Amino acid sequence: MTTATIPAAEQELSGALRERGLRVTPQRLFIYRALLRLDRHVSAEEVLAAVGESLPNVSLPTVYATLELFEEMGLVRRLGVTQGAVLYDPRPDQHDHRVCDRCGAIEDFEADLDLAAALRRAGRGGFHAGRAEVVVHGLCPRCAALAA
Ligand SMILES: [Zn+2]
Ligand SMILES: [Zn+2]
Repeated sequence: MTTATIPAAEQELSGALRERGLRVTPQRLFIYRALLRLDRHVSAEEVLAAVGESLPNVSLPTVYATLELFEEMGLVRRLGVTQGAVLYDPRPDQHDHRVCDRCGAIEDFEADLDLAAALRRAGRGGFHAGRAEVVVHGLCPRCAALAA
């Protein structure tokens, strides 16, 4: 996301918070802004480091709670755990991921597959399938070069 769209995104956040009867706090705005600025898959620790200068009193549990709230609101997605840290994705829309098994880097890509059949099959036996994404494991170019 470019910095030009950040004010618009913040207005959207403010509106979505008010709709739920939640307060628009500087913490929530700063954390959201940090997510948009970083514009990649980040851990709560990275978000904390990014907002630490503007919000010296913010704690890691607060960042986690805020990211969980954003997830409930559909603003971020929680990715699986890589290298011990839960990562948050600033892109809530449908997309796929490729994961480097050596350095843990996660990149977006579009697999361009119809996952409806996967969701139907996952729904067998009473499982309530929500969403599906493709995760491709391998080596990023840097790690592949080191391994060669
Ligand atoms: Zn790598
Ligand atoms: Zn992503």
